[in-house]
Amino acid sequence: MTEAKHFMRPDKDRFLGDEAPFEAMMSRFDFAAGLLNLEAGLYKVLRNPEKQIIVAVPVQMDSGEIEVFTGYRVLYNRSRGPAKGGIRFDLGVTLEELKALAAWMTWKCAVVNIPFGGSKGGVICDPRTMSMGELERLTRRYTTGIIEILGPDSDVPAPEVNTNERMMAWIMDTYSMRHGHTVTAVVTGKPVEMGGSLGRREATGRGCTIMAKQALRHLGLPLKGATVAVQGFGHVGSTSAEVLQAEGARIVGVSDVSGGVHDPKGLNVKDLLAWRQKNRYLTGYPEADAISNEELLALECDVLLPAALENVITARNAEAVKAKVIIEGANGPTAAGADEMLDRKGVFVVPDILANAGGVTVSYFEWVQDRSGYFWTEEVVNQRLQEIMVSSFDNVLAVSRKYGVNMRIAAYTLAIDRVAAVHRLRGLYA
Ligand code: NAD
Repeated sequence: MTEAKHFMRPDKDRFLGDEAPFEAMMSRFDFAAGLLNLEAGLYKVLRNPEKQIIVAVPVQMDSGEIEVFTGYRVLYNRSRGPAKGGIRFDLGVTLEELKALAAWMTWKCAVVNIPFGGSKGGVICDPRTMSMGELERLTRRYTTGIIEILGPDSDVPAPEVNTNERMMAWIMDTYSMRHGHTVTAVVTGKPVEMGGSLGRREATGRGCTIMAKQALRHLGLPLKGATVAVQGFGHVGSTSAEVLQAEGARIVGVSDVSGGVHDPKGLNVKDLLAWRQKNRYLTGYPEADAISNEELLALECDVLLPAALENVITARNAEAVKAKVIIEGANGPTAAGADEMLDRKGVFVVPDILANAGGVTVSYFEWVQDRSGYFWTEEVVNQRLQEIMVSSFDNVLAVSRKYGVNMRIAAYTLAIDRVAAVHRLRGLYA
C-alpha cells in the first residue's frame, strides 16, 4: 500500500513544466500563424476560448458532511463542429491549464480533419481519497452544473486523467434523465454495452503504431526488426508495444512510474503484461535488465515512444536521445526548448496532436455510431482509423515540405489553416 502511494503521480498533470501552459502552447501557435500570414482579426479570435465555465459542485461525503468542489469546462472553439474534450479529476486542475488543453483538442481534431472543435473540463479533487459513491455524486453534480453546454451537437466529453468509462456512464445517465430520453452520443469512451465503440480503448496505441510505421517508411526503414523503446506502460504505451511487436518490431525497452526494463535482444510484451497484471508495476521483472526512465529515453533504438507524461524530453536530455524517430504518444512529452536540438540531430518527431489523435478519432466513430444507431465491427473501426491516420500523416508531411518546417509546426499550421478557413467561410455572427 505504501509502495503504491510512492508510485502515485503527483507530477502526472504538470503541463509544460514551469512555463505558463496557455502561453507555452501559444508560442507554437504563433509560429504557425506567422507562416500562414493569419489576419490580425482571426488571430485574435483563435487566441481566445469561446466559453469558460466555473461551477461550484456541492457533494455530500460519506461522513455526512457537505464538501464543495470547483469544476470547470472550457469550450475553446466550435467552428468546425461540437466541442470534444476530456474531463479530468485532479488536485492540480487549473483554468489556465484547461484553456491550453482545450485549444490543443481544437488543433488535434483539425489535424485529423474530424468535424469537432475542442474543449476540456475538470474538477479540483483527489479521486484517490474518495469512495465510489462520492465520485458518483461528484460526477452527477458536476454534469448538472455544466448541462446547458453539453450535448451531442454542442460539447461531448470523454475520459481523461482519473476519469474512466464508469464516469462516462454516469454523465450519460444524468444528461439523459434531464432530457427524458437516452442520449448515448453526449459522451464518448463509454462502456461498449451502452453505446461505446469497439476498439476505442486501444485506439490511441493503435494510432501511435500506425504513425511509427509511416515515419519509418518515410525514412526508408522497415518496421520489421525496428527497435523500439516505450516510456509508460498504461493504455497507450502497452497497446503500442503489443501492436508494434505483433507487427514485427523489436521492443528493447519499456518503463512505467516504477522504472524500466531493457533487453537489446527484445522483450516479450505479453510476458510483461502478465507480470504487470500480477505485480501492478514493471519493477522486479526478472527476465530483463532494470534501467531508469532517464536511461530508457537515451536507449539505442530506431523509435522512441514517450507515452507517460509531459515534459520528459527537455533541453537537458535531448542531446542524449539516440532514436531516429519519436512518436509522441503522451500529450506534450517534448518541452519547447528541446524542439530545436532534436531538429539539429535530425530526429524525426511525430508530434502529439497527430501521433496520439487515434483516441479522439475513434471517439468520433463512437459519436457517429451512437447517432446513427448502427454499430461497426472492430475490423471496420480499425480500418477507418488506419485510413484517417495515414492520410493525416501524409497531409502534415506535405505541409512540412511546403514550408520547410518540422512535423510539429506543420501539424499546427495545417490545423490552424483548417479552423481559420471555416471562420472565414462562416463570417462573423451579428
Ligand atoms: P495511463 O495512466 O494508462 O498510463 C500511464 C503510464 O505512465 C503508466 O504505465 C504509468 O506507470 C506511467 N508513468 C507515470 N508516471 C511516470 C513517470 N514519472 N515516469 C515514467 N512512467 C510514468 O495513461 P494513458 O491513458 O496511457 O496516457 C498516457 C499519456 O497519453 C498521457 O499523456 C495522456 O494524456 C496521453 N493520451 C492518452 C490518450 C488515451 O486515449 N488514453 C489519448 C491521447 C493522449
